Amino acid sequence: MTHPKHTHDDSAGDRLIDMKCTHCGYEEKMPAWCYGEEADYLIDIGNPEPQRWQCPKCYNETLCRKP
Ligand SMILES: [Zn+2]
Repeated sequence: MTHPKHTHDDSAGDRLIDMKCTHCGYEEKMPAWCYGEEADYLIDIGNPEPQRWQCPKCYNETLCRKP
């Protein structure tokens, strides 16, 4: 899964979710709308795994939501 593009305006009120790469420790905040859409899609196709994104730093698919 590729890293989602941040095309949405970071307008006030957008909730951000802390993400962290378990491979290299890179951290970033992902807008909740972006994370939520992806989670809904994965539930729709019956994927039971927690969502992982490609880390923009180390390029492993190990970027996960921080616990
Ligand atoms: Zn990484």
